[in-house]
Amino acid sequence: MLELSSVTVGYRSEMVLTDLDLAIGTSGAAITALLGPSGCGKSTLIRAIAGLEPLSGGAISFDGEDLAPVPVHRRDFGVVFQDGQLLPGRTVTDNVAYGLRVRRRPKREIAERVGELLELVDLAGFGSRKAAELSGGQQQRVALARALAPRPRLLLLDEPLSALDRQLRERLALQITEVIAATATPTIVVTHDHTEAAMMADRIAVMEAGRIIQYDVPEKLWRTPRTESVARFIGCTTICDGAVRGGVLDSSLGSVPIDLPDGPVRLGLRPEAVMVGPVTGGRPVGRAVHVASLPDGVRVRLSTAGLELDAVSDIRVEVGADVGFTLDPNRIAIITEASIGCR
Ligand code: ADP
Ligand code: MG
Repeated sequence: MLELSSVTVGYRSEMVLTDLDLAIGTSGAAITALLGPSGCGKSTLIRAIAGLEPLSGGAISFDGEDLAPVPVHRRDFGVVFQDGQLLPGRTVTDNVAYGLRVRRRPKREIAERVGELLELVDLAGFGSRKAAELSGGQQQRVALARALAPRPRLLLLDEPLSALDRQLRERLALQITEVIAATATPTIVVTHDHTEAAMMADRIAVMEAGRIIQYDVPEKLWRTPRTESVARFIGCTTICDGAVRGGVLDSSLGSVPIDLPDGPVRLGLRPEAVMVGPVTGGRPVGRAVHVASLPDGVRVRLSTAGLELDAVSDIRVEVGADVGFTLDPNRIAIITEASIGCR
């Protein structure tokens, strides 16, 4: 178990992490994503866990041991940064062997372990290449192999994919999770992309302005974001209030059956939760103010009941036309810390 309690870290007088609490299970190959907007302190947190940033307050412990007196190289954590930080003029083998040489492991063991890892990251045969002569994706796989070579008890990945193009990112995200599973290394992976977080992780810790505000499995995060800002961060573009009575949710955007106890609720709507259809009696109506054809279907921005909301459509929609719409109760997010108003 990695436990952070009231962790505070700052640069000069400005505090970046403030009273941050988080407890992460570290058995097996559990992957936690640390998700948050740029500048919220994700890298600072990773550096603090790795021992690269001193704490101004609070404590970090691993399996009950306080890490404060444990220097970086004795924490047994593997770290991969955004740009991998390989030794560019050295060979792939030298780079992967680095941590084992520092630990003065026997030559034979180093050669075996390097071979094993290059196989695992699908770079067998690349050992004698210079790191600088590899593509971005290959370099990140070398960085991953290097971090894993000394069998760390925790792997920390700080936006390992963000320098790569989208297609490669998705492929590498899956490959990294396979390597993590094969080596059974508990991992924290930083990302600012909620889809990438869900692709890779069992649990997601959402960070905002130096704190963790929600730590949940992905399904719970999508269904029940804790605050409006979390809802917006995971893709809800409209926030709206409603009320549940007898298993029916009523709001200015219509009524749908929902499995919730009676009372006021606050909804987060991402486009997929709102389906456009023909105008029929009983269905709420909105005016299409913007229409875009996306690869996975038509996206419509609707103006209705004094607010704008995004919707998906299976039918052709003209800008300016009135269309009906329905909420999909299985795709609505219920914000658990409620307050009032639509926006
Ligand atoms: P993230 O990784 O979530 O984008 P960072 O942890 O890199 O966020 O940065 C959080 C805040 O700390 C930002 O406002 C950033 O400008 C500031 N910061 C980061 N590193 C330093 C540093 N070495 N010195 C001063 N301020 C820093
Ligand atoms: Mg960062």
